[in-house]
Amino acid sequence: MRFGIVRCSGCGRERIADLSTKRSACPFCSRSVETSLLSPIYSGDDQALLRAVMASMSGFEREEPERGEDPDPLSTLHYRYEKCGRSGRCLSLLAEGLTEILGEFTLADVEEADPGRGKATLEAMLRHGLAMETSPGKYRAV
Ligand SMILES: [Zn+2]
Repeated sequence: MRFGIVRCSGCGRERIADLSTKRSACPFCSRSVETSLLSPIYSGDDQALLRAVMASMSGFEREEPERGEDPDPLSTLHYRYEKCGRSGRCLSLLAEGLTEILGEFTLADVEEADPGRGKATLEAMLRHGLAMETSPGKYRAV
């Protein structure tokens, strides 16, 4: 098997693609491309080595000054939650994300992330012990 580090044309993130398959999908934005059209930044058959190379690359990127704060962290969180599905992991992602961004969150904040299901989602968070009520109507991740 041969692997390559490729930059996704959809979200611009680097990922490892299995070059022996015909098509390859991005794990971040799920854009699928024909493997033959990819131009790997680096390739090899040792996946562990590729991971190490990629880790050092993302290390460099974090130091670039133009990559600043996410201008709209809430929208990013809503997007990630929407893509996540409905597992417990996603509830935890949402609870922790809202807490990180807002400090405390309300039913309205959950409703915004999960339109039409805010109440059920918030109740599920509480039931699974992922969030707690800190004062009436205010919640944070546990
Ligand atoms: Zn992508």
